Amino acid sequence: MKKIFYTLVFTMMFVACNKVPLSNRSQLSLVPKSQLMASSFSSYDQVLSESKLSNNTQQVQMIRNVGNKIKVAVEKYLADNNKSDIIEDFEWEFNLIQEDVVNAWCMPGGKVAFYTGILPVCQDEEGIAVVMGHEVAHAVARHGGERMSQALIQQLGGVALSVALREQPEQTQALAMAAYTGGSTVLGVLPFSRLHESEADRLGLTFMAMAGYNPEAAPEFWKRMQAKSAGSPPEFLSTHPSGDTRIKDLNKWMPEANKYYQKASKESNSPIPQVDSQSDNSSQTEPKKKKKVIQLKIDN
Ligand SMILES: [Zn+2]
Repeated sequence: MKKIFYTLVFTMMFVACNKVPLSNRSQLSLVPKSQLMASSFSSYDQVLSESKLSNNTQQVQMIRNVGNKIKVAVEKYLADNNKSDIIEDFEWEFNLIQEDVVNAWCMPGGKVAFYTGILPVCQDEEGIAVVMGHEVAHAVARHGGERMSQALIQQLGGVALSVALREQPEQTQALAMAAYTGGSTVLGVLPFSRLHESEADRLGLTFMAMAGYNPEAAPEFWKRMQAKSAGSPPEFLSTHPSGDTRIKDLNKWMPEANKYYQKASKESNSPIPQVDSQSDNSSQTEPKKKKKVIQLKIDN
């Protein structure tokens, strides 16, 4: 781990700029992609080795199933927008950690972790898709790398990076971890900004819809999450600050997401019910059938 960060110092000689998909915003990118991936992958392995992985095969399978569908959607979305290079170094992985914490994150390079404590808030497969889409969107929009770049300037601004990293390798490592997973307590690193949250919401909504999940599940999930904010807010809310603006924005983007959802529903052979265009008199008045989703069996 230390070696990675020493290498980081010597390769961090230039400032580059990336463009965020969908919003097309320019972002600061101080950490070279290869180094970002290397440190992310080793951080991820470290987290897994220190965690108890769930042995509930049904729940693990559901996380992987949703993850793979979102992955396919991301690949399609980026290919359609000529941005496939963003994920060329990704090594997707989806794991479920057995811990009663309301949290989930995706490190750079598609390394996803869900904690079993978030499953009751997700409720079902669509709820998982909301969180999966959102977290994967943070990685696709390279928010971790951007936060790491910002944190390096903020924390080590006045000091030569090589000196600071040599003298504070552990803090720097913690800083990377916090930047990737949205940790808010280490070294004063801020939670994901409202801008990052907003970008991840809109991209995430697109990804879940393209993967064939009803995007209407997103505002519902965030309402449930917000209801838990009284008392001691869950980890997920402290790193993903939320408010009424989020729900309002999600609903604002819903028509855009619904177009992707309708298209995915048409292309898919899976039993996603659609309004039957053949039955001319009933389709207008009957309420839209709700897609049958697999309910989670939560046992602690
Ligand atoms: Zn977020």
